[in-house]
Amino acid sequence: METRYIFVTGGVVSSLGKGIISSSIARLLLSRGFNVTIQKFDPYINIDPGTLNPYEHGECYVTVDGHEADLDLGHYERFTNIKTTRANNITTGRVYQSVIDKERRGDYLGKTVQIIPHITDEIKRCVKLLGSKGDYDFVITEIGGTVGDIESLPFLEAVRQLKWELGSKCVCVHLTYVPYIKAAKELKTKPTQHSVKQLQQMGIQPEILVLRTEHDIPVAMRRKVAQFCNVSPDAVIQSIDAPTIYEVPLMMHEQHLDEIILEKTGTPYKGEPDLTAWNNFLDKLNNAQQEVRIGLVGKYVSLQDAYKSIDEALFQAATYNDHKVKIDYINSEYLTDANVEEQLAGKDGIIVAPGFGQRGTEGKYVALKWCREHDVPTFGICLGMQCMVIEFARNVLGMSDANSVELDPNTKHNVIDLMEEQKSVTNMGGTMRLGAYACRLQDGTKVAKAYGRLDIEERHRHRFEFNEEFRQQFEQAGMRCVGENPETHLVEVVELPNMRWYIGTQYHPEYSSTVLSPHPLFMDFIRAAIAYKIHNAQCTIHNA
Ligand code: GLN
Repeated sequence: METRYIFVTGGVVSSLGKGIISSSIARLLLSRGFNVTIQKFDPYINIDPGTLNPYEHGECYVTVDGHEADLDLGHYERFTNIKTTRANNITTGRVYQSVIDKERRGDYLGKTVQIIPHITDEIKRCVKLLGSKGDYDFVITEIGGTVGDIESLPFLEAVRQLKWELGSKCVCVHLTYVPYIKAAKELKTKPTQHSVKQLQQMGIQPEILVLRTEHDIPVAMRRKVAQFCNVSPDAVIQSIDAPTIYEVPLMMHEQHLDEIILEKTGTPYKGEPDLTAWNNFLDKLNNAQQEVRIGLVGKYVSLQDAYKSIDEALFQAATYNDHKVKIDYINSEYLTDANVEEQLAGKDGIIVAPGFGQRGTEGKYVALKWCREHDVPTFGICLGMQCMVIEFARNVLGMSDANSVELDPNTKHNVIDLMEEQKSVTNMGGTMRLGAYACRLQDGTKVAKAYGRLDIEERHRHRFEFNEEFRQQFEQAGMRCVGENPETHLVEVVELPNMRWYIGTQYHPEYSSTVLSPHPLFMDFIRAAIAYKIHNAQCTIHNA
């Protein structure tokens, strides 16, 4: 089948959930047997989000091929179960970089290089790149930003040109916001009308409107929007706040969004999408009565999206274990020996988060010491794993100044050291150890049992590693290195075998947990947390 292109744009305000709508469309089309991929175009000038602080755009997601990507790619993978690559995330910076490289090579043969046609041509090339391989029936392109932003103009101009070139092989879904004015008790469609007008002024007529709302939008009001915006009434769809984002595909299907897209793109289809596995997940979610409480110790806790993939991986694992998860975010910056008991007691499991830099690390050691001494299920991820190693060195091996070279370049006990290949790195962008690498697990360990196999592949994003020189000392004192890279022997997993569940991974398992394939290590961690909760409840009864 000739590839169809779906553009998803946003109007009125940002943060409407274009990523969720794009992912939901992908889920529905996949469930009808089509091959689908999603890409995100971000209008900022950074080459990729790798150099961005989480306060800017939330978590940095990592693809298997080592691209530091926008967190929406995480949603794409969680909804579709299909891995994305660097081709799925393009920024203005990358577009310009490639055009400027071509200009320097002399590819433009003396022409003046301009936004139109050179930048827009490059954007169009990127849009069609995934489709040109012939692997996909649908390529969904989410345009970041909001219509009306100066930054997104070249992207929208490229969409206009592509709509002209591709004709009916292409549709534009425009997502807007319908605010509710409390004092007047009224929903207002004017911002939507204006934002569609803005698109029309740029020469883009959206075929489908998805209206984000907190209240049900009456049919008559949707018809009015249709009339004002030149869109057919059945193609004005509402996206009302849902209990979880994973309900959105069903809500879109109830309003026939998938059929409308198939019809508008002239795609033959039969019957209904097969959403059995998806519905099974939602049934489990809705039937779960019990709660499992996880404390997430990190420094970006005031920020909703900073640990997005960890949140979602916990949510998926808890759901498959028939539990609701309650995540309590604990700011490691304010964690001390004096308040750790009050902050961590009552949690069924603790996660120590990834991160960079000194701020908040001392609190992570406090948390880890408390967890180790109280035998609480504990999961350290990346910096969290490195902190497990440092805490153990300080408090068990007696190396009071043990540290990571990242945090104290002069420490004598550099139990976490800069990787050899990182020593010559001067540019910060895209130069960490990134993407999927193989790891061999030791047989008979907790981590191997959790995976049910010994050879795994997981994604990374780090510059520092466990210092091999100290390995023997750790092993002798009871912290075991139970997973390593088969070629370089870099330590990937540490565990304390005598404890309930105390595992640290240098890699990020959270990036590969999806709705249909929850991650085995998160599944096992949640199982351990539930077992610990039951154990505590029994102790309470016993002691009463
Ligand atoms: N800052 C640490 C390193 O670079 C850990 C990185 C992380 O947690 N992603 O090795």
